[in-house]
This record gives sequence, structure tokens and C-alpha cells, in this order.
Amino acid sequence: MALARQDYGFATWVRADSRTSDLQAVRKTARRCIAIFVWEEAIMVQAIVLDQTGGPDALQWQSVTIADPGPGEVRLRHAAIGLNYIDVYHRSGLYPLTDLPAIIGMEGAGDVIAVGSDVTDVKVGDRVGYAGSLGAYAEERLIPAANIIKLPDAVSYEVAAACMLQAMTVRYLFRETYVVTADTTMLFHAAAGGVGLIACQWARALGARMIGTVGSEDKAKLARANGCADVINTKTESFVDRVRELTDGQGCDVVYDSIGKDTFPLSLDCLKPKGVWVSFGNASGPVPAFDLSLLKGSLFASRPSLMAYTAKREDLVANAEDVFAMLVSGKINIAINQRYPLRDAADAHRALEARATTGSTVLTV
Ligand code: NDP
Repeated sequence: MALARQDYGFATWVRADSRTSDLQAVRKTARRCIAIFVWEEAIMVQAIVLDQTGGPDALQWQSVTIADPGPGEVRLRHAAIGLNYIDVYHRSGLYPLTDLPAIIGMEGAGDVIAVGSDVTDVKVGDRVGYAGSLGAYAEERLIPAANIIKLPDAVSYEVAAACMLQAMTVRYLFRETYVVTADTTMLFHAAAGGVGLIACQWARALGARMIGTVGSEDKAKLARANGCADVINTKTESFVDRVRELTDGQGCDVVYDSIGKDTFPLSLDCLKPKGVWVSFGNASGPVPAFDLSLLKGSLFASRPSLMAYTAKREDLVANAEDVFAMLVSGKINIAINQRYPLRDAADAHRALEARATTGSTVLTV
């Protein structure tokens, strides 16, 4: 998304351009000039802009322009925005962004307020949500119509923004990466987090046995209350020893590991022979390169992402429909345990990285 700041004029960019021979900078300047030429017609909204990757202070509250939707796009006015750990990876640079400045954030819900020429599936006034489309940290945004899903009346904007990305992740982890059944014993790290609390409830609904890890006693209570059969507090217990005890030395069928560096390679020691190690996140840092012989016992390893599992429109819709059915039936409830005004997104990032949040977090607009 090309951005133009309210306080910069055209002349500023022309002068900056003449001082550099860098082709990328010239292209970036050209894009900004185009945005400024349509200044009179463009709509100004507030957004969190990332100029350079870095710590939470890199998230700046600024005015940006939004153009009319092009072919295949809609303009969406957010009612609520979801906070996810991937936002931290984008902000810090762990997951490189193709262009800066950028508006980060992958999830939100709100109303369609304008549609591009060839958009037929949605109309102005529709209530919609999405997960997996960069550019959410803004009052309004453009988004491809193919990325949005209409919300059932029973699903509020806040719940959709809080959970679409996290619940759709649990759905593909449990139904596709490894097919969880009533016979499954799993280890699930960060069981009291956003993805974690939904996983506790979904595992209970499937009749599976979930052993969860958490970082405090309060979080242990929360995970148990949400259906986690056994909870290990990693501040006071070795999760490998405890999993061995809890499974009579057998180990688990599958380990869902979103912690990364700190739990590698220990998570592998919690698996049965031919068990499945699902490494789906890096909250403590990325898993280092490793020798395949570590997968002793004929283990399987997967490094999945929601984007790959929902790349086709039909897969995105099928996943979202399952999530909505779980919500409407009451089999999963979304614990929105933190709310921050969008302009305070930096504080939300600080809390998430400090392990001070539980359940889901929304940025309010
Ligand atoms: P969470 O709410 O789960 O927050 C992260 C949690 O990880 C913390 O609360 C903390 O719980 C635990 N943690 C352990 N060690 C650390 C550490 N060193 N720094 C920070 N946190 C740590 O976040 P989300 O629900 O948004 O995401 C959970 C994970 O799932 C993330 O790793 C994310 O990247 C991943 N994910 C992957 C997707 C995919 O498709 N691959 C999609 C969605 C999420 P505790 O204190 O209890 O240990």
C-alpha cells in the first residue's frame, strides 16, 4: 500500500529525490507523488505506520491517504482489529516486509464502504472479516474482495477480529496438518495464549487429550478451565519429564510448538515413534537449522502456515465456515482479555512480547 503523509508536500519529495540516485528510492518517491496528486480526492484516515523495522516504538500513529478501491478491491471501515504474534515478527523484521513504510496487522472486521468495479460477491454495508491480509492497523483500508468473508449475524465484529486468524489456525492444525481424533494425545505449547485457549476448547470438543504448557499458575488455571486436560507450568517443571509421566512413558502423537527456539529440540523428546512435530511459530525466536537425524524414532516434521492452508478461496471459505459453526454452536468461546485503542498498538505489542496477555487481544477503532 502506498502511503502519503499529511504533513509532507510535493516539493519535499522532489527535493529528496534529486539528492539520491538509488532506483528503489526514486520508485518509492514516485508512488508517493502519485498519492499526493490525488490528494484532493483521497480520504485521510489514521493508521499505525511502520517506517523502519524495530521495537514497539517503531509503530507510529499517523495520517494516511486511502484511494478508491480498484478492480477486485473493497474499502473496509474497521470496527475492530486483531492482534497476533505475526504482527511482532513483521514489526521486528523477523518476517521481512516487501516494502516500507508499511501498515502491519493481518486481521480485522468491519463494514464494506465502497467496492471496485468488478466486485460482485459483496456490497456496500456488508459486515465482513478477514485473516491474513497485511494492512489492518488502520481505521480504513483497501483489501482484495477475495480475502474477505461475510460474517454471520451471531458473530460480532470484535469476536471476528479477535479470533479469525487464531481459530482458523487451530482448525487447519487439528483437521489438516495432523488429524486430531478422540484417540489423540497432544502437547500444545502456550495453551493460555490466543491460539492456545481456542485450541483447548477445540480439543475438548473433539474429545482429544490435550497437555498444555503455560508460563504461570494463573495461566494454568485458565487453560484448565478451557478444557486442557493436563497443564504444565514451564516456570517450575520440565515439560519433557512431565509429558513422559503423564503418558506413562509413551509420549504424544503430535506436538504443536509455537515457541520455537526455547522448546527446540526438547519438543521432539515428547513424541511417540512416528509422532508429528508441528513447528508453527517462533515466539521465543526461530528454530535453528538442524541435522535431520534429530528426528529419531521416524518422526515427522511440519512447518505450516495459515496462508498456505487458505491460499485457495474455497479453502479459506471452508475453514472460516467451520470456525463460525464452532462459535455459533458455543463449542468455542473467544476470551477477549485485552483491548487497546489502535493508537496504542505499541503498548499491545509490549504486553504480548512480555507474555503478559492471555487469550485474544483486539485493537479498538
Ligand atoms: P500468544 O497469545 O500465544 O502469545 C505468545 C505466548 O507464547 C506467550 O503468552 C507465552 O505464553 C508464550 N511464550 C513462551 N516463550 C515466549 C517468549 N520467549 N516470548 C514471548 N512469548 C513466549 O500469541 P498468538 O496466539 O498470537 O500466537 C501463538 C503462536 O502461534 C505464535 O508463535 C504465532 O506466531 C503462532 N501462529 C502461527 C500461525 C501459523 O499459521 N503458522 C498462525 C497463528 C499463530 P506462556 O507465558 O504461557 O509461555
